Formats: sequence, C-alpha cells, structure tokens
Amino acid sequence: FWSTAKGYLKRNGLLTLSIISVVTGCTLGFTLRGTHLSTQAKIYFSFPGELLMRMLKMLILPLITSSLMSGLSSMESKACCRIGVLTVTYYLWTTFIAVVVGIVLVLIIKPGVGTEMESNRLGGGPVMTSADALLDLIRNMVPSNLIEATFQQYKTDLVPILKVPAITVLPNFVYVIPDDSDPKGRMVFLELTPPPDVTYKTSPGSSQQMNVLGIVIFSATMGLLLGRMGERGTPLISVCQCINECVMKIINAAVWYFPFGIIFLVAGKILDMQDPSTLGKKLGWYGITVLAGLFVHGLILLPFFFFVLTRKNPFTFIRGLLQAMVIALATSSSSATLPITMKCLLENCNVDRQIARFVLPVGATINMDGTALYEAVAAIFIAQVNDYELDFGQLVTISITATAASIGAAGIPQAGLVTMVIVLTSVGLPPDDITLIVAIDWILDRFRTMINVLGDALAAGIIAHLCQKDFPLMSIWESNVCFCVI
Ligand code: ASP
Repeated sequence: FWSTAKGYLKRNGLLTLSIISVVTGCTLGFTLRGTHLSTQAKIYFSFPGELLMRMLKMLILPLITSSLMSGLSSMESKACCRIGVLTVTYYLWTTFIAVVVGIVLVLIIKPGVGTEMESNRLGGGPVMTSADALLDLIRNMVPSNLIEATFQQYKTDLVPILKVPAITVLPNFVYVIPDDSDPKGRMVFLELTPPPDVTYKTSPGSSQQMNVLGIVIFSATMGLLLGRMGERGTPLISVCQCINECVMKIINAAVWYFPFGIIFLVAGKILDMQDPSTLGKKLGWYGITVLAGLFVHGLILLPFFFFVLTRKNPFTFIRGLLQAMVIALATSSSSATLPITMKCLLENCNVDRQIARFVLPVGATINMDGTALYEAVAAIFIAQVNDYELDFGQLVTISITATAASIGAAGIPQAGLVTMVIVLTSVGLPPDDITLIVAIDWILDRFRTMINVLGDALAAGIIAHLCQKDFPLMSIWESNVCFCVI
C-alpha cells in the first residue's frame, strides 16, 4: 500500500496538494466568517492569494507572445491556414453547442418562473448595445498602442456605474452593492459619486484588463511573417524560443507556491461572500441550471466530440488537465490559468508543442463555452423573472449574441457578467436586472472558467490529432474547406 501511495503522490503530488488547498481554503474561509474581520485584516489575509494571481498574470504576456511567435514562425503557410481554420471553426461550433445546451436546460427547468423575485427596474442610464460591443471587439483586435494593450483593454464605458465603498467589485468598471433597504436583499447599481476619502476594496484579479486579443493578433502576425523572412528572421525566432523555454521553467518553479496561494485565494473569497441564507430559491435553481449545463457540456458533450474525432479516451486526457482545472477554480480566470494549461498539455497530455502554442492562447481569448452557456441561461432566467415571453426569433438572437458576448469577454474574473448586457439589450430585457444574479455569480464564474479551460485544452488535443500528416480528414479540409474559406 505504502509503495503504491508513494508512487501516486510522486506522480500527482502537486495536484493532490492543490485539491487539499481548495478544501482547506473553504474550511478556513467558512470558519473565519464568524469572526467578522475588518476590511484591512481581510486584505492582509488575502495577500498570499493576491500574490498567486499576480504571478500568473505576470506570465501571460511573455507566454502568449513567445508561444505564438516561435510556434507560428516554424509552421508552413499551408499548415497555419489549416490549423487556423480548423481551430476557429471548432471553437465557434462548440460555443454554439454550449449555448444550445444552456437554452434547452433553462427552458425545461424554468428557474425564473414564479413570483419570489422582482425585476430591478432602476431606470438605468445608457447601456452598451450589441453594435458597441462588436465595435469594441474589433477595436481590441487592432490595438492602437501595443504597450498600452499589455495593460488595458478597450471598453465602451456605458454601463451605469456605482461607486460607493463597494461590497463587490466587478472587473474594471461595474460596482455593485447589496441594497440594505431592500427586504429581499437584492443588489443594486447606482450612479453615485464617492466621497474623496472612500477606500475601495479590491479583489485580486479585478484590476485593469490586458488586451489579450490584440496581443494574440499581433504576435500571430509577427510569428507568421518571421517564418517567411528566412535567415533574417532567425535571431528573433531564437529569442522567442528562448523566452518560451524560460517561461516554462518559471512556471515549473512557481507551481510549488500555488497550493499555498490557493488556500488564501479561496478563503479570502469566502470571507467576502454574501450570506447564502439570503439567496432565494429561484436563484438557487438558476445556479443549478447553469451548473447542470456546464456538467452536460463539459463532461458529456465535449468528451464525446473528443472521442469521435480522435478515437482516444477523453477522460484519460482530462485527467492530465486536472491541475489546470483546479487553478481555474481557484482563480476564476482562464487567462491567468493559461500557463498551467500549457504545462499540463505539454507534460501530461503530450500534445504537439506547435499546436498547443497556437490553439491555447487563441482559445483563452475567444473560446469560452462555459461563459456562453451561462450568458444564455442568465438572459432567459431574467426574461422568466420579468414574465417576458421570448419567441423563437428572440431565442435565436440570444444564442447568437451569447456566442458573440463570450468571444468578447476577457479571460478574467466575472467578465461574462459585464458582457451579458449585450445579450439582455439584444432582446429588450432590462440590463439592470444583472443585479438579480450577481450574488451567486462569483461561484458560477469559477465553474464556467473550468469549462472554458477544459474546452481550450480538449480543442488542442483534437486539432493536434486532426493535423497529423497522415490523417485523411485533413486532405479533405485542405482541398475543399480551407481554400474556400480563405
Ligand atoms: N472568468 C471567466 C474566464 O476567465 C470569464 C467569465 O465568464 O466571466 O474564463
């Protein structure tokens, strides 16, 4: 027994430690909730978790640029075109399937039907429309200043803003608090100007967003062109390869800090959490619907596609990704998890290095199955709460805008909550009603981030398999689809 246990721990030590950390963090968080720590004490307490987030974020930029530049520079044009088309087609397809799963489940379970919750029509200010969001997406693809893109994403700032000593701070610009005067404890957006001495509580990871999409587009273009420059491109390609190797070494060292950081990241979040007893039954059913959808999509449909396309056991593959999924659960950020996903794919799943270097950064930016599913469920839930009958055309609109909104969402905590305004406004629902679901969003965010990460990694496994030279499907792609699309 001992030798088996020792062998297991040697192979899965880090993963085991990370899982123990999540459990310890939950226990510690719930235990300390009764002690009513001051805001300052909570900030100190969450510090090791904040460091973990900072470490992961620090690695995103060098990892994405060096991976894409070195990976694409060594690929032939034909292979690049083939992999690019296949990747984007697969991502769009699985995101759309995720949305359909969400819509079917929410229409069957009907979590919002009933009278327990009321709409929060607060007569909101101007809101972001689908056209604004599409323009933002395109703007982000073409950053006007590369340096700025490494720390700032373009965002039309039209959502009503609440600035008071906030209880919950959403990414970048949306601030939400529980309305103390509301007997149902609903959350509100208000446009208030803060007194100058207000101290804002910040949660790790909610600071400025990097424009990952812009960086991906620029690095991919550079990589493609470097590969075609012959001798003259070689020095820069070597630099990128060297940086890439170095970053992977840093990741290998940093992972040993993660179990410690995870404890405080998780516990800190639980300390901030709203009292679960104030959440209504409808919200509970809504949460169950989202989780059921994520389960069906992530653990049934995606593995099924993986099996059909690769004829390999998807669960053996997923086992190799567990470490990345634990980090996704702890950080709620698929971008921050990217370094670990890359490590798992290369070391545990043996995915081709070149494919992983391209498919993963692109996936972390545009492929968010979990987010798309959640956005569709949330929009229909809000319609049900408002007693608003959606016709078939509006369901189609929701499926398209949820897919687009997930593509536009950044891989950071609760980004999906912000881009959901697009889905709501596309079918005439009140955007202020986002406040109905905000109370449990932080927990759903963790699970949808896990599915986002899983979707990217399974895609890399599938594309790597399909792009093997001797795979007959690829010749069909090459001759028909690839040339037509391009
Ligand atoms: N937190 C998610 C991610 O990083 C995005 C979201 O759904 O809010 O993938």
